[in-house]
Amino acid sequence: MSAESSAREAGLRPIRIGLVGIGKIARDQHLPALAADPRFELVATASRNATLPDLPGHGDIAEMIAAGHGLDAVSLCTPPAGRWAIARAAIDAGLHVMLEKPPAATLSEIEDLVRRAHAAGVTIFGTWHSREAPGVEPARAWLAERRILAVRIAWREDIRRWHPGQDWILASGGFGVFDPGINALSIVTRILPEAVLIEAASMTVPAGRQSPVAAELAMTSGGAPVEARFDFLQTGPQTWDIEVDTDKGTLALALGGSVLRLPGEEERKAPEREYPRLYARFAELIASGQSDVDVAPLRLVADAFLIAERREGPAFDW
Ligand code: NAP
Repeated sequence: MSAESSAREAGLRPIRIGLVGIGKIARDQHLPALAADPRFELVATASRNATLPDLPGHGDIAEMIAAGHGLDAVSLCTPPAGRWAIARAAIDAGLHVMLEKPPAATLSEIEDLVRRAHAAGVTIFGTWHSREAPGVEPARAWLAERRILAVRIAWREDIRRWHPGQDWILASGGFGVFDPGINALSIVTRILPEAVLIEAASMTVPAGRQSPVAAELAMTSGGAPVEARFDFLQTGPQTWDIEVDTDKGTLALALGGSVLRLPGEEERKAPEREYPRLYARFAELIASGQSDVDVAPLRLVADAFLIAERREGPAFDW
């Protein structure tokens, strides 16, 4: 039975949702995922500058809430710095909240939001879209029965290509190269059977900016070394790879988790459906009165910032 017919059958009306922060990810992923999911009805947006055709648009979340669209939920696609105040306004208004990754600018902010959502009886969902890549769950299942010997993460992409003009990303609270790098950390904290701990970190911050364009992390998991190299200035081929050496051979996740290679098996590839899966999960969480926030990837980034040796790099210009 389709989601639409089962929703009709159960006499459920769609979840009336507002989208906040109409930028790249809202347009690339959230709008198509919402349009294709009959469990949701997008009824309004809140963004300082952007609006969408044929939809009420407001300059901020307070205006959107005050306009009375019969909202049930909001999905926040703004940069992480500033998201706490927006999410807090939504929770105070009794709305369910879905958060883009990373869920907030700091651990104390996300922990406060979780506390507030529980007290208000609303769902809070801190999404990690890369965990929805098709190779991730099969990788987790395969690794659960093996001894992990070593893990290598290489996440190298071109900031100018994927984040054109997004000055916030190199500002304080913008995460810099950890904005994509946290996706790799969201995958390894999901697929490895043991907790991941940071031992050492180094990062390069361009002169005049506050967040890094390159970082290296030395971590461990269950005694195995886990090394990560993040680079935001990679031109040419782009790399989003994770390799895990085990006692039964090497597992490789390529292209951000969409390709899985296991020893002695044919490469597995499946269509990418990360955002449809996130919205399906959000609908399930709301229906069952639950929340889902895992701060493990954010904690690793926070730890990296705590202990990192910092180098100043050349000034960065778009
Ligand atoms: P973006 O293109 O800059 O869009 C964010 C939008 O939020 C802006 O267009 C802006 O619209 C609004 N906004 C509100 N407060 C802002 C502020 N203080 N500074 C800048 N913009 C502000 O960024 P994005 O790439 O969509 O990323 C947004 C979030 O999605 C980030 O957490 C990122 O990690 C995550 N994400 C991005 C991608 C990607 O491929 N880009 C992929 C997955 C997840 P107004 O000017 O109209 O307010």
